[in-house]
Formats: sequence, C-alpha cells, structure tokens
Amino acid sequence: MPDRQVTRIRKPGTRGRGSPVAPFLDWFAVAQTVNFPVPQQRQAAAVQTITLPASPAAFANAGWPDIAPYYEGLATAPLTRDNVEDWLKSWSQLEELIDEAGTVAMIAYTGDTADAEKEKAHLRFSTEIFPQAHEQGVRLSKRLLHLDYTRTGLETTIQRFRTDAEIFREENVALFAELEELSAQYQKIVGGLTAQWEGETKTIPQLQPYLKERDRQVRERAWRVGNEAYLARRDELAALFDKMFVARTKVAGNAGFPNYQEYAFKSKHRFDYTPADCERFHEAVETTVVPAVARQLEYRRERLGLDRVRPWDLGVELERVESLKPFDDVGVFVDRAKAIFRRVDPKLGTEFALMASDGLLDLESRKGKAPGGYCTKLSFRGKPFIFMNAVGVADDVNTLVHEAGHSFHDFAAHSQPLIWQRSPGHEAAELASMSMELLASPYLQKPDGYYTADEARSAQIEHLEDILFSLPHIASVDAFQSWIYTSGDGHEAAARDRAWLEIRSRFERGIDWSGLEQERVARWYRQLHIFEYPFYYIEYGIAQMGALQVWRHSLADQATAVKHYREALALGGTVGLPEIYQAAGARLVFDATTMGELVTLVENRLTELRAG
Ligand SMILES: [Zn+2]
Repeated sequence: MPDRQVTRIRKPGTRGRGSPVAPFLDWFAVAQTVNFPVPQQRQAAAVQTITLPASPAAFANAGWPDIAPYYEGLATAPLTRDNVEDWLKSWSQLEELIDEAGTVAMIAYTGDTADAEKEKAHLRFSTEIFPQAHEQGVRLSKRLLHLDYTRTGLETTIQRFRTDAEIFREENVALFAELEELSAQYQKIVGGLTAQWEGETKTIPQLQPYLKERDRQVRERAWRVGNEAYLARRDELAALFDKMFVARTKVAGNAGFPNYQEYAFKSKHRFDYTPADCERFHEAVETTVVPAVARQLEYRRERLGLDRVRPWDLGVELERVESLKPFDDVGVFVDRAKAIFRRVDPKLGTEFALMASDGLLDLESRKGKAPGGYCTKLSFRGKPFIFMNAVGVADDVNTLVHEAGHSFHDFAAHSQPLIWQRSPGHEAAELASMSMELLASPYLQKPDGYYTADEARSAQIEHLEDILFSLPHIASVDAFQSWIYTSGDGHEAAARDRAWLEIRSRFERGIDWSGLEQERVARWYRQLHIFEYPFYYIEYGIAQMGALQVWRHSLADQATAVKHYREALALGGTVGLPEIYQAAGARLVFDATTMGELVTLVENRLTELRAG
C-alpha cells in the first residue's frame, strides 16, 4: 500500500483518474528518471517575435530571471492585427517550452522522491517559475484582449482570457495564497490520520483492503476505525473550513459576485451550463439513479444473505471470492494494453505503442515513487506521459485504461496549433477517459486482454456498479457545495453537518445508517474536493453521462462511435462543451428522461452479465 503522506503535486494540466467514491488519489503524484528521446525541433513561426530556445532542455536549469526576458519581449514587442498571429505563435511556443521543462522536472521528481536535486528542480518550477509565468501570461492576454482580435478557432481561448481578466482582482491574490495555505493544512491533517489495526498503526488508505473482507465483523471494524480517525479531528477540520468559507466569500465579493457559487461558475469557465442545470441533474439522479441503486443494494443484500445493508457492506465483492490478478509483470501489463487499444482502434493502438517505446510510461510501483497515478502532457513534443504504481491488481487495469483515454486526448488535441486551443475543461477531459473505460471493456478478455471470460465479466459488472453508485455521491457533493455557498448558513459548522445529512438522505437510500449519524457526517470531511477544489465534482457526472452515450453508440456501431470519439478529442478546446459532446455523438445531460434511459441501459447490461 503506498504511503499517501507525500507532498501532492499540483500542476495545472495534470489529471488523474478520479473515482469520485474513492479518495481522489490521482493528484497525489510524484517517478524514476525517464530516458526521453531528444525532442525534435519544432518549426519556428514564420516571423518570430522573440528568439526562443530550440528545446525545453534549455530551460531545465532555468530560474525565473532566465525566463522573464522572453515574456518581457512579448509584452513590449509591437502588436497589431497584422502581426498578431506571429506574436501568438511565439507566445504559445514559449508556454510549450516552459510547460514541458516543468513537466519533465515533475516527472523526474515523482519517480524518485528521495532525490533532493529532483525535488529542488520540481519546486523551482512549481513555486517560482509557474506562478510568475502565469502572471505574465495574464499580462499578455490583456494585450490580446485590448487588440479586440478574434478568429475561428480562437473564440473559446479569447472567451477564457476575457473571463479571467474580468474576474481578476489584485486584492484576491493574497486570499488565494491564504486558501493554498489552508489547503495544505487540510492535506496535512488528513494525510497524517492513522488508526490502530491489530496492534499496528495504519494509514486510512491502508485499511481499504479490509473493507472488502468476506468476514463482516472485520469490515465493520475497519470501517469504524477509519471514520473514528476523521471524527477525532472533526472540530479542527470544521474550523479550517470556516476559514476557507470566509476567504472564498471575500474572493467572490471582491470580484462583484453575490456568492462564491456564481464566482466559481465563472472562474471554472462554465459557459455552457448553470447552477439551475446542476439542480436538474440532482433531481434526475434522485428520480432515476437512486431507485436503481436501491435495486442493486437489494441484490447485494440477498447475495450476502443479510437482513439489511449497512455501510460496511458496500465494499465486498459479490461476483467472486478471489481478487483478480490481471498480470504479474509490467511487460505483460503493457503488451496486453497495446493489444486492447489496437482492438478499440488501430490508430489508438499505435499511439499507445509509441508511448511504450518512447519511455512515456512509468507504471510499476517502486520504492521512492510517489503514490497514485496521473497523466500529463509534454506540450512541446506533443506527447503524453502516464505515471502510476501498478502492483498487479484489477484497479491497475482500470487506472491505465482511464489515463490512456487522457493520453489519446492529448495526442489528438495536439493537432491544434496553439497551446490554449488544446485544453478543454474537465467535463471534456473526463469524457475522453471515462468513455475509454467503457470502449475498452469488451477487450479485457484473453487473448488480447488480462482476464478469462468469467473474470472479464466480473470486472465489467464492478465497473457498471461503480458508475451507478458514483452518481448519487456526485449529486450529494454538488448539492452540498451549492447549499454551503448560497444558503446563508454555510458559515456555521453545525448547520453544515445537518445540511449534509439532509442532502445525503435524499440521494443515498437503501443503506441502514441507524446509530451512525456521526459517521455519516464524517463522509463530507473526507471529500478533499470540498476543501481544496470547491465545485469541482459535477464534471464527473456530466462526463459519465457523455461516456455512457458514447458507449451506447458503440454497442450498435463500434467503429463509428470510436471515429466520433476521436474527432471530438481532436477539437481540443476550440469549441464549446456542447459542440465537443456533439462531435462525440453525445450531448450534455441534465434531464431525467435521458439519464433514465442511460441508467436502464446500465441496469439491463448488469442483469445480462450476471445471468452469465
Ligand atoms: Zn481523469
């Protein structure tokens, strides 16, 4: 079990597999020295506004003073509508070079956290270079906005730049720094939680395997000690959240918004849906998913021979007694993955094989590696990188397939010429990864994949169950955050706990929580997004609905579904969310009718799979 008590790497553009139910491991990042091939030189802009180094290697040892002059050059160069495209190209290339240099440093550090030099290089980028580069980027974006220039393919970039400029307030900079500090405190408290287990001190994630135990008493005990660890720090965590609430409310007020929710929608560039749409999503979950989950729980109750389902009965495997062991060697892990992605689409298979041959996969668990997993991109050379800690369990396969979905997105979106055109929001990023989980699921079976027919069947069942169970949790977390920032009572710790219980009982039915009120409250304190990434959660629900539509299409016509999937990814961030989803053959779903259809599809498939 990896030790989670490491510094979490926070780098924009690094996404991880975010199972919304499990703790969000993905951004716990940290890797061996990876031998990259020497990047090839990129074709320079026709007329360079500034002269740039030929490769990110030039910035490997750079400090901010080495980089600042390039921004200064772009900030002071003459800028007119006649040369704006060359200027943009130069700026974009500068961003690519810095981004890739910083990413290479992060990859090196996460692969080898004990190396002080690698840590220093990573920190130089994350704490010195990136924040200042970001500030300079805002300065340059203002020049562009001032020019009032736009064109096809650049509209969404300009819209994001304009929004960022509109909501920027100098007086909020200190508040963001304070929020960073408060987030670090949360991380420290939660990362340091331990529990006593059979005479040993264990971290909370180390208790996870016991929640799957067949022996009900064992899993109950593990469940209880895990929650007790949080409950013992509840007052401290509540006080910490009080401070976050105050700081966020101030941020919103300074920027002229009546509450933090409205600010968050703007700052997260949610141009295509509103808080009212999210409320419709919650209602749709309540009417379609909640009853479906209750049916699954009833099935579980019967299978386990219980009189009622208690919260510690949720982790135990129904389909098999032995855990899946998909591979015992990382070479096999990679080779089978190549075959699986080839089956999904030959082009995707080629891309994944290229990652393997180019040293862009660091998969096996090793001493000194940071825990968790992530996919990041090397912006200059236009290739992704996947990091994880595989130990040969089913979840490793799930993680790799998910992260590979992000990688295929990075490959496809790199066809967009400018760096800002390549990154859509999380709603589209997770559409890529969650769709791949479903698109790859028919091929997990041997000879291409890892499993016997029976094992593949149970892996699929678990995946589909996870999808259903995650949606009420997503709705709870989103509805709760909305309540916190708009009810007028969110500043009060006791009121928050009461509101959570009320919201939770709306979305979570069929589990007997009697006598466990405090433990039920503890759940929200475990959700790091609520503390550290406010309002970042509904994206998973939106993307899951999109992925289910892509999957539905693939069941009828696999080749066309994958073709549309790839076309959508290639759009990068050049169009709005509805257009990206449309290209993928899907749409944004907030309504109960469509959600109900998709839930029925999942339930029917579960019934089929269980029938064998
Ligand atoms: Zn992801």
